[in-house]
Order: sequence, then structure tokens, then C-alpha cells
Amino acid sequence: MQVTPQLLEQALELSHDAVTIFEIRNGGSAAGIIYVNRAFETMSGYERDEVLGCAPGVLRGEKTDAGDLESFSAALDAGASCEGESWYYRKCGKPFLMSWEASPVLDDAGNVSHFVVVQQDVTERRRRRRRRQDLERMVDLQREVVSGGLDLQRVRQRIVEAAREITGADAAVVEETEGEEMVYRAVAGIAGEALGMRLPIDASLSGLCFRSCEILRTDDTRDDPRVDTEAALKVGFVSGILVPLVHDGHCYGVLKVYASRPDAFSSDERQLLEIASGILASALFTAASFESEVNRRSMLIDAIPILVSYIDLDRRYQEVNAAYEDWFGVEASDIRGKFMWEVVGEAAYETIRPHLDAALSGEEVSYEADIPYQKGGKRTVLAQYQPNLDSSGKVEGVYAVVRDLTSVKQAEQDFLTGLWNRRKFEEKSEDLLRKASRYRQPVSLVLIDIDHFKAINDCYGHLVGDEVLKVLGWHLGNTVRGVDVVGRWGGEEFIILAPETAAEEACQLAERICSEIRRLSFEDVDHVTASFGVAQWMENEEWSQLMERADGALYKAKRDGRDRVMVAQGSVGPANDC
Ligand code: GH3
Ligand code: MG
Ligand code: MG
Repeated sequence: MQVTPQLLEQALELSHDAVTIFEIRNGGSAAGIIYVNRAFETMSGYERDEVLGCAPGVLRGEKTDAGDLESFSAALDAGASCEGESWYYRKCGKPFLMSWEASPVLDDAGNVSHFVVVQQDVTERRRRRRRRQDLERMVDLQREVVSGGLDLQRVRQRIVEAAREITGADAAVVEETEGEEMVYRAVAGIAGEALGMRLPIDASLSGLCFRSCEILRTDDTRDDPRVDTEAALKVGFVSGILVPLVHDGHCYGVLKVYASRPDAFSSDERQLLEIASGILASALFTAASFESEVNRRSMLIDAIPILVSYIDLDRRYQEVNAAYEDWFGVEASDIRGKFMWEVVGEAAYETIRPHLDAALSGEEVSYEADIPYQKGGKRTVLAQYQPNLDSSGKVEGVYAVVRDLTSVKQAEQDFLTGLWNRRKFEEKSEDLLRKASRYRQPVSLVLIDIDHFKAINDCYGHLVGDEVLKVLGWHLGNTVRGVDVVGRWGGEEFIILAPETAAEEACQLAERICSEIRRLSFEDVDHVTASFGVAQWMENEEWSQLMERADGALYKAKRDGRDRVMVAQGSVGPANDC
């Protein structure tokens, strides 16, 4: 069985691909169409009689890539295969994207006699591919926009950059409303200089887009009555697309892409921007809500009278709240970025440093310290440092919460001696007695009264009397154990509550203090003495009863000549000398 020319032609006629056969004439310098199949007619809209005899490029037009035809001519000259893809035109003038593949046919002498060109209309295929790529781009875009974090301005900036990139526009702008105006909040491309530009909502195309929540397009702002032409030309806006950034029914602003030439955008770009706008609006919404959340929180944090800060690894303040302004008398913005020692002063930093070292090595730290003020004086603080760890557990910085306890302390301490005042002493005593009762442990009370103190005041003056009280107070505070509670009971009377201490040991303690006071020397006053009343707490005894017994012992010490210790025997019994 033989394959006849008729059979081959019939096969060509059935092909879905367009086939054109060129005959090479004049020794290769010219080519003319001698055959096109039915698929060619369908693709191009030409009847075959209309193209037979024509030279290559019969379908070309304005959008046809000149390089495409050149490569075909070069292939004809060289007798080589080649392929290409470009826009060509149907008979009706409608452009279509054609891919083609040309192969030479040799005659018996080995010369190129014909070229067979197989062509395909790939407009739809390419459109679909582009669409898929666009969608992929959208997914990337979403990832990109959110990956920049939640900083609102950074998100706006990414939005304009992404919009410019996907549309190939000369510029992109995010405009948002403020009062009755549209404001350029982020700009890219040739709009670069226009950041912060404002136009009335009523007199701008963006305002119209914002109000109507519709996508708008202008092909030439110079003859678009909706546009403030002068303002548009100032930023190089001749043609453009405006999309409202709508999320959850709320319009957050307008994304505008534009070019400085007319008719720069097709419906493809409009569609793409429309899809992108949803993603961009939701990114904008997330960042905007985050920012208002942060603002709300920082307002809360600023309202509390506690120092709150974040310190980085270089020991610089990254964030500080408003309380820092009151403490240091400088603007918070002047503190941010400064090294800690620059802000708190070298002396205070020396106190803080070991605690900060520990926090920066990953420990949670809590400490109470007297921090010297740069301008003199000290303040008592309770500081808590919380290391901020990254996902691998590495310390990135430290959150610091510092409370000024000075006023609290002042309310609890006697201003002259620094010992607990009466109110605080009683509070602490109650705790101690409760504990002693639960664990059935002895507790003893020691009351101390300076002898003839009135005479000291009368003789040397009140200030000298104060000095005696200060020295004695300091001495008492440093003599007792850490667990003992020492207070100034009032005037020239001091008080000690010693847990886990029976009357005998309390007497020994009182005797020791008594003889130490006797040996103390003061600047003006030669020496002072004090009298002591000691009482051991008895089970179920009220605080006032214990006090009464100690006071009774003290009274006896005074009566018996002062400068001595007396112990109360039983709750109501007579007091005895130790
Ligand atoms: P006695 O040995 O009997 O305790 O004699 P006294 O003089 O110590 O006792 P009195 O209660 O008569 O006097 C207490 C004095 O302490 C009277 C008061 O002026 C003085 N005083 C109380 N509080 C202070 C103070 O804060 N500073 C000074 N300088 N004196 C004070
Ligand atoms: Mg007294
Ligand atoms: Mg006295």
C-alpha cells in the first residue's frame, strides 16, 4: 500500500495545527506561500486564495515583534529550522498570540526548496498560564506583605511596591482619609516625592473611589472631568487604576497605580489589582488593628506609675514608658536607643549591673535596691527583669519592670532612724505571733527607753537629741538578727520582737544591747543609757497584754535605777531583774 500525495494533503487538512508551506524562490532570496491548510484559515480568518503567493509576515501588525520576523528571515537565508512566538493579526484585525516552528525541506540537489511552518494560536493557553502565574504571585504577595511584620507603615510600603510590580505601573500610592482629605500614606516609583500629599475627598478621583467603594479607571486624566488635572499632572498621573482597599465591609483606603502616559493599563491589570486588593486590604486591616492594639496597650502602660522598659543585648533602652520621663526628667524618645548607664548614671548602673548580667544570661531576676539619683539622693526600687528568649532559647533582650518603693517605704519606716514605724511594727508582730502560735515557738518582746532623754534635749538641743536617736536606731538595726523585728515605738522608745527566743535569751540580748549603749560615744553627749523591759509571749496572750507586761518590766527597770534590764514574770506577775 502506498501513501499518495492526496492522502498526505488530506492528513494536513485534518491537522489541528495551522500549516503553511513556503516555496523558496530566486535562489533563496524570496519566499512565497504555496499552501495553507484549513486550520490556518480558521486561525487567521483568511481564505487560502487570499494568502497564496504572499510573502512571510502576511499576518503581522503593530504588536508583532520585529525580532520574530527577523529570525524567520535569517532561518530562510541559512536554511535552518527556527521557532518563535509573537502577536499576529487575524483578517478582522484582532490580535492573537501565535507560536510557530519552521523547518526547511531540501530538494534532490540538497538545496532548500521549501519551508514548512506549523503554527498555533496560543492566546488562550498563554492567558491561562499568565493567570496561574498571577495567582501564584498573589500567594507570594500575601506571604511577602505579612512577612514584613505588623508595622503598619511597612505594610503600606510593601503594598505599593507589590502593586507597582504586578502592574508594571510607573507609580503606586496608598491613600487614606484624614478628616475631609485623602492623604498619600505610602508611595512608590515616580510618586516618590509625593508622600504626605493631601487632596480634598470631594475633589479627587481617589476620594470618589473611597466613597463609592468601586474600582475606577482613567485612561487620560487630562480630559477626565472627575480628576483635579493640575494635581494629577504634578505627580505624573496620566492614566491609572484605583481600587478601594476593603476588608470586612470597611474601606481602609485606596490603592492607586498610575502611569505618566495615557491608556497604560489593560483589563488584565485591572483584574489582577482587584484580586490583589483583597489580600492587601486584609494585610492593612491586620496591621492597622495591631497598631491600634499597640497604641491602646502603650497608653495603658504609660498610665501606670511603674517603669516598664525593654533593654537589648547591647544594654540600650529600646522601649521605655512614660514613667521614665517623670523619673529622669527627659523625654522617652531621648531615652530610647541610649545605653543604660547613660540614662541612670554610672553609680546607679554599678548597683544594677550584676542583676542585669544575670538577666541577660537568661535568669529571671527580682531585687530591691537603693538607686542613687543622678541629681543626688536615693530611691528604693523593686526591680524585676524577665529575659526575652527567641524560639531557640537564646536571650534577645530583657523586659524590666521597676517599682519605686520610696513612698511605700516612707509610709512604713520611721523617717529619723529608718526602723519600722509603729504601724508596720505591729503588722509584722501580728504575723510573727501567728506563726509562733502555729509552730508553738517562743517569742520575746524587748522594750527600750532612753534614760533621761528629756535632759539631753534640754541640755544640747533637739538636733543633738535627734542625732542620738539616729545612732541608737542604726545600732539596734545592726545588732539584732535578720529575723528579729526592730521598730521605733515612739519618742525615745524602741522595740524588738525576737522570734524563736525565750525570755532568758531575750534578756541576754537586752543585756548585750544595754552595755553596748553604755559604751557608745556621741559627738556632744558624753554617753547615754537605756532601760529595758523584756517579756516572753504566753500562749493565747493578746498583743496588748504582752505589751503591758513588757511595759511593766520597763517601768520597774526605771524605778530600780535605770540602765538595766527587767523581765516580766508571767502575764500578770511581778517583774524581776535578769
Ligand atoms: P526617763 O528616763 O524617765 O525615760 O526620762 P525621759 O526624759 O527619757 O522621759 P520623758 O518621757 O520625760 O521624756 C522623753 C523626751 O523625749 C521628751 C521629748 O521631748 C523627747 N523626744 C521625743 N521624741 C523626740 C524626737 O523625735 N527627737 C528629740 N530630739 N526628742 C524627742
Ligand atoms: Mg519614754
Ligand atoms: Mg526615756
